[in-house]
Amino acid sequence: MAFQQCIDPRCAATYAVGEVLVDCPRCGNLLDVAYDWSRAAVPQSLRSFEKKWTQRRDPHALSGVWRFHELLPFAPPDAIVTVGEGQTLLQPSDTVARYIGSQPGCVYLQYEGMNPSGSFKDNGMSAAFTHARCVGARRAACASTGNTSASLALYCAVTRLMRAVIFIGSGKISYGKLSQALEYGALTVQITGDFDDAMARVKEVTSELGIYLVNSVNPFRLEGQKTIMYRVLEALNWEVPDWIVVPGGNLGNSSSFGKAFYELKQLGLIDRIPRLAVINADGADTLYELYENRGVRWEQGLADLAPVCQYYDELDAKKRKASTIASAIEINRPVNLNKCLRALEWCEGVVRRVSDQEILDAKAQVGAGGIGCEPASAASVAGARLLRQEGEIAAGDRVVCILTGHQLKDPTATVAYHTTDQAEFNQVLGVRGVRRASFANRAVAVPNDLSEIIKAIQLYS
Ligand SMILES: *Cc1c(COP(=O)(O)O)cnc(C)c1O
Ligand SMILES: [Zn+2]
Repeated sequence: MAFQQCIDPRCAATYAVGEVLVDCPRCGNLLDVAYDWSRAAVPQSLRSFEKKWTQRRDPHALSGVWRFHELLPFAPPDAIVTVGEGQTLLQPSDTVARYIGSQPGCVYLQYEGMNPSGSFKDNGMSAAFTHARCVGARRAACASTGNTSASLALYCAVTRLMRAVIFIGSGKISYGKLSQALEYGALTVQITGDFDDAMARVKEVTSELGIYLVNSVNPFRLEGQKTIMYRVLEALNWEVPDWIVVPGGNLGNSSSFGKAFYELKQLGLIDRIPRLAVINADGADTLYELYENRGVRWEQGLADLAPVCQYYDELDAKKRKASTIASAIEINRPVNLNKCLRALEWCEGVVRRVSDQEILDAKAQVGAGGIGCEPASAASVAGARLLRQEGEIAAGDRVVCILTGHQLKDPTATVAYHTTDQAEFNQVLGVRGVRRASFANRAVAVPNDLSEIIKAIQLYS
C-alpha cells in the first residue's frame, strides 16, 4: 500500500518502503512516501479523527502524529515509535495580530515548542524512528543546526532503540540545543565548517557506515511533519485558514505542509488549499533568490533547474556562507529545495526574506504576548508582517504562523536583545546589522536599599 517514489515525474521510479534511501538511485532526485489510497483505510471525514480523543490512554491516540496514522500509513501499528510528540497548541494572538497589522482574532500561532525536545522536529523524528525500527537500524545520524540533533538524541535516549550520532558545524549553535544533545548522550561530532559542510559529510559517512540518516532528506520524516497541518485544521474546527506562514531552512516543513494539503484535497477531505508563505532570513535567502528573483518554478516537475546549480556555483565563487541570528535557518543549500518548489506550486505560495532586526523585534512581540519562541521561529511573524504591509495578506485573512521552536532554546539571543548596550549588540550575538532593540525590557538597576527599591517599583510599575 505504501511505497517510495521519485518526485521527478519523468523518472517516477518506485521503491519498497523497506529500502533505506536518501535519494533516487536512478536520477538522484528526492523521494516521497506515496500511497495507494484506494487500499488504505482513510476516514470519510477529518472529523472522524475526533474519536481518538476519547482513547488518550492509548499512546498512539495520544500522539499528535499517530492519531492521524491513517494519513501516513507506511508502518504497522506495532512498529510505531512515540514519545508523546505533537501535544501542541494553536493559540490566537491579538498581540501579534496588532503587530503585523491584522484584525483581532485573525492571527494564530502554532506553538511547536511544546514538543518533548522543544521543537517541531519531534513530529518528523517519530516517523523516521518508526521507519528505522522497521528496517532494524542500530545507529542513526544527522547534521544539525541544533534542533534535529536534540530531537534525535531524545528519541534514542528514551527508546534505547538506536545510538545517536550527530554532526554539528563550527557555526552558530545555541546552547539550549547543544545541551540537550550532550545530556541525552548523543555521540557529538563537531567538524570545522558550517551546516552545509556538515550536511555533505553526514551523507557520505552514513552511506559508508550504513547508519540511518534522519535529516529531512529522509522522506519518512516529512510524513510525520504533515501532522502539524492536521492539528492546525483540528484546532480550527477543520476549517482551512487563508495562510500558513513558516520559516524556511532546509525546507522540510514547507515541503511536508504542501504534501499534507495536496493529499487532503485529493482525498476530498478539504475543499481548498491555504496559501503558503515561506520566510527566509536575509543572510540565508537561497529560496527567496531563486523563487522571487530568478523565477525558478516547479512546473509540475518539468522545470529546468539549471539556474539552481548556477546559483550555487555563484555562492561558491563568492565564498558566501549563510549568516543569521536565526541559527535554525542558517542554511544556504536547502536539501528539500525541489519539494518546496512543488509545495509552493500546490499552495500558490510566496517567499519573503526578513532581516535579523525584523526577526528579533518580531520575536520580542511574540514573547510579549506570552509563549515566546526562538529566533528562527519569529521569521514567520516578521514575514507575515511584511506580507501584510505589502497587502498580499489582507487584514481579515486568517493567518497561521508556525512557531517552530521553544522560547528557551536560545536564551543568549533573548537576553542580549533585552539587556545589551546597542554598541555591543552585534558582537554579543555574533551577527551584523541589528541596530536597536525596539521592544527591549531592560532590567532596572537599584542599590540594595529598601526605600530605593520601593521608589523604583513605584516609578516603573
Ligand atoms: C529546523 C528548524 C527550522 C527550519 O525548518 P526546515 O524544515 O528545515 O525548513 C526552523 N525553525 C526551527 C526552530 C527549526 O528547528
Ligand atoms: Zn528518480
